[in-house]
Amino acid sequence: MSYIAPIARLIEHFRRLPGIGPKSAARLAYHVLKMDKSQVLALSQAIIDAKERVSYCTVCFDLTDSDPCQICRSEGRDKSLVCVVEDPKDVTAMERTREFNGLYHVLHGSLSPLEGVGPDDIKVKELLDRINRGIQEVIMATNPNVEGEATAMYIAKLLKQLGVKVTRIAHGLPVGGDLEYADEVTLSKALENRREM
Ligand SMILES: [Zn+2]
Repeated sequence: MSYIAPIARLIEHFRRLPGIGPKSAARLAYHVLKMDKSQVLALSQAIIDAKERVSYCTVCFDLTDSDPCQICRSEGRDKSLVCVVEDPKDVTAMERTREFNGLYHVLHGSLSPLEGVGPDDIKVKELLDRINRGIQEVIMATNPNVEGEATAMYIAKLLKQLGVKVTRIAHGLPVGGDLEYADEVTLSKALENRREM
């Protein structure tokens, strides 16, 4: 079945979104056509606003609408602790536990030789640049899968050369799963039971 051009174009845009197959894309497109024009405008404006107002914190590389971000600026956070995660979504997951009161560093990916992702493609150098005498411990909270483990080991080696204590969040997280899907209790336990690398 071929769609008329404006619908085909809308479907094509939805298809490029993660987790959206051809059927879902078509369903979303038809849903948009049924929406009130005001709702459609509000949706497109929300997308544009988010894109324009949100950028990366120049310290921790989390998403923020102010730079440095709220966490990096906060007086109440323990600046001697840095938790390294792969994705901004992992910061949200860690914050939900309310157990961690340090700072973060978002790598924006993990090392994956098969996919051609090397140390220069993620924020490793930026992490090393942050290391100073004030930082006493770096917690590696990359995902519990092959890439996440390899990334944690690679970075731990570099940090130890700088004389920093490096720990890894405990196992008990579902293997192969993403941090962002772990429930608060599991994540709190993993953090509490972290071990020196
Ligand atoms: Zn920040």
